[in-house]
Amino acid sequence: MRRPLIAGNWKMNLRRESGAALARTIVQLRSPKADIAVCPPFVYLEKVADVLRGSTVELGAQNASQFDDGAYTGEVSCEMLVELGCRYVIVGHSERRTVLGETDEIVNAKVLKALAAGLRPIVCVGEHLAERESGQTFAVVRRQFERSLAGLSADQMKQIVIAYEPIWAIGTGKVATPKQAQEVHADLRNQVENRYNSAIAQQSIILYGGSVKPDNAAELMGQPDIDGALVGGASLTAATFLAIVDACH
Ligand code: PEP
Repeated sequence: MRRPLIAGNWKMNLRRESGAALARTIVQLRSPKADIAVCPPFVYLEKVADVLRGSTVELGAQNASQFDDGAYTGEVSCEMLVELGCRYVIVGHSERRTVLGETDEIVNAKVLKALAAGLRPIVCVGEHLAERESGQTFAVVRRQFERSLAGLSADQMKQIVIAYEPIWAIGTGKVATPKQAQEVHADLRNQVENRYNSAIAQQSIILYGGSVKPDNAAELMGQPDIDGALVGGASLTAATFLAIVDACH
């Protein structure tokens, strides 16, 4: 049985006190139906870590460097994130792939560094609208899977969370239908099985992301291969985020 994971990606939103207040409300949730993680901006990680301490809610970062130390102005290493109490790190979010030029090779280097530091990478894959409309969805997502997760041992693969996030659904209010999402999730699970084995495929956590809201969460997460959600906009208020957690089966 896979336990669902709901991860909130705050992106570049909230401020020190509003983020801490949101985290304080989330930790009060008793008997959540899912594992929960929140991913604040780097500068608020330490503050939010203080709020989460002693709770079951995990801390995640939104990005990490593919380097350990050195002259990389503005970057933050995986070891630094561990020091701040992070358990997860989002890697290869489409906003970083498309706006900041992150390639599959860079994503792969970040995944390997994150694993070496003891973090669980949440690795994002997903197609552009034009790619979906021209029938390339499966080819694009398979290629991202292959390259972004290249060179991982079976034990390393067990630490990976995959997030299928169709780019056309992120922040747009357009959500993939449960059927569209399920097809890609099932295909990703097959990729894991083909490369590793069915036990690893069956335990792999594959999240859906892209305009998940309280009113569509239950149907999406009711699909057999959807194991939770990476939530952007709806993770910024406790009411919507907790309603999504509550929609887990
Ligand atoms: C995201 O940025 O990962 C995301 C899924 O955003 P939203 O929920 O706002 O579409």
